[in-house]
Amino acid sequence: MAQTSHTAELGDFELTLVRDSVYWWDGGAMFGVVPKTLWSRKIPADDQNRIPMGFNCYVIRTGEHTILIDTGGGDKMDARARERAKLPPVPETLPVAIQRHGIDPESVDIVINSHLHWDHCNGNTVLTPAGAVPAFPRARYFASRGEWEHAHERHPRDSVAYIDANYDPLIESGHMTLVEDGFEVAPGVKMLRARGHNRDMMVVTAESRGRTFCFLSDLAPTAAHLQPTWIPGFDLYPLDSIDSKMHWLARAVEEDWLCGFAHDTQIAFTKIAADPKVKFVAAE
Ligand SMILES: [Zn+2]
Repeated sequence: MAQTSHTAELGDFELTLVRDSVYWWDGGAMFGVVPKTLWSRKIPADDQNRIPMGFNCYVIRTGEHTILIDTGGGDKMDARARERAKLPPVPETLPVAIQRHGIDPESVDIVINSHLHWDHCNGNTVLTPAGAVPAFPRARYFASRGEWEHAHERHPRDSVAYIDANYDPLIESGHMTLVEDGFEVAPGVKMLRARGHNRDMMVVTAESRGRTFCFLSDLAPTAAHLQPTWIPGFDLYPLDSIDSKMHWLARAVEEDWLCGFAHDTQIAFTKIAADPKVKFVAAE
């Protein structure tokens, strides 16, 4: 079922949603070809057509590791960009947000980036006069190699989504490892490619005692995007987004997975249910 509580248990693992603030983004861009008359019933827009989006990060405590999935919007946006997104002028840092949930940020020893768009990895590093340094110095960082290569292609369509200070300094200092599809970052925790939003975005699955959590990332940024054809205008490969959703969400239903979204502001954890009309919904 859908739950708003920020913590959940999964076998031996403890899961925590850390919402690194809420930003407001163009609703039309988030729903692509879906008419506003339909999407605005799910997420109402403000007078500038913006809808609220969480920078959702998840912490998995396995007993052995403290794993952070995605690092949110960070502090690299300038004042104008922050104002446009209705963000407070001075951000709360992610380590402080993690601390607020009763988790010692120093204990984070693994950081996973589902992909390298700024809204998923801006909190990886902190800018100092000496350059970008890791925000989680004890952690090993993991990201998809194909995604990093794409970031450096600087394609005009999406180059604006990439900020090299979020990953290149970490690769140079040996903090970040670039990985392939299926990489197991810790026992039971895997990064799995789900093409669509872009070529190499990863969902993250965590399995303990036969139960599975899946961070869907931008495969379904909010519960409203579970319907396979409701695809953000940002997605580079919308037909693949549909195929990927059919594949991953069918598994989530069959295997009774608990799921988390990258940007939903209401739901922290939810099971997915099959629906005769729209195929998949957040379970009631
Ligand atoms: Zn995103």
